[in-house]
Amino acid sequence: MPELPEVEAWRRQLDPLVKKVPIEKAGPAHIATLKTFDPPVSALDGEGFKGVERRAKRFLLPTDDEELVVMVHLMSAGRLKYIPPHGKGAKTPMFRVRFTDGGELQLTEAGPKKRAGVWLLRPDALAAELEHLGPEADRLTTEDVARILASDSRRLHSMLRDQRLIAGIGRAWANEILWSARLSPYQLSTQVDDEETERLATAIHDELARGLELRLQGANDAKTYRVHNKLGAPCERCGTPLARVDFEEHTIYYCPTCQTGGRTLKDRRLSRLLK
Ligand SMILES: [Zn+2]
Repeated sequence: MPELPEVEAWRRQLDPLVKKVPIEKAGPAHIATLKTFDPPVSALDGEGFKGVERRAKRFLLPTDDEELVVMVHLMSAGRLKYIPPHGKGAKTPMFRVRFTDGGELQLTEAGPKKRAGVWLLRPDALAAELEHLGPEADRLTTEDVARILASDSRRLHSMLRDQRLIAGIGRAWANEILWSARLSPYQLSTQVDDEETERLATAIHDELARGLELRLQGANDAKTYRVHNKLGAPCERCGTPLARVDFEEHTIYYCPTCQTGGRTLKDRRLSRLLK
């Protein structure tokens, strides 16, 4: 799933493209993709986009008059693309916005499961949709991180991914951040000392900045991640083969030397715990 660095990189690329010319026609949208029905997507016809903004992992496209906002959540397999005039796009995307110069904004989604979503919202409804989100991960100070850690006793990997506490981090960047901070994914948030909190805050900032820079250069997953999806690869810091553990519904990657004092973490998959 694209996380803060990926969505922010795409946002910066799409922003100048969607505000060049007005919208000719919005839609159609796949029935599973469009999550709202009032106002109808045809309300966008003749309007213009002010640009592309971002909140957590969502794209926000307000109209010029800011009376309407298109919100897009890509989930795992969604892709939001700008197709230039006469360019080759998808024939039947999940959602499309056609501009007056013939260019198109298209949402596509690979695979049979249609989980990506498009919402057309008025500003008050948008505020309600975003209300539950915590502060943006790339803006956190060390004090913010300390306050969030103390707010609940949670395993660090799970806490970093909780959008209500910190917005924009998913399983891939949680792996990268914890490796960078040399902290165990299973460490309890209430047992992180001051020096570790400082390391974690620095790692959140540095890793998300590193990710954004690489994604802006078009780097793929293999080039961007140092631990995520790299089972058995040598740790860049110490050479130990990276390990993997199932935790809840996620797979965590980590270095047993740098992060867990040589210990191998035990599986805590939900299905196993329920047995
Ligand atoms: Zn290591």
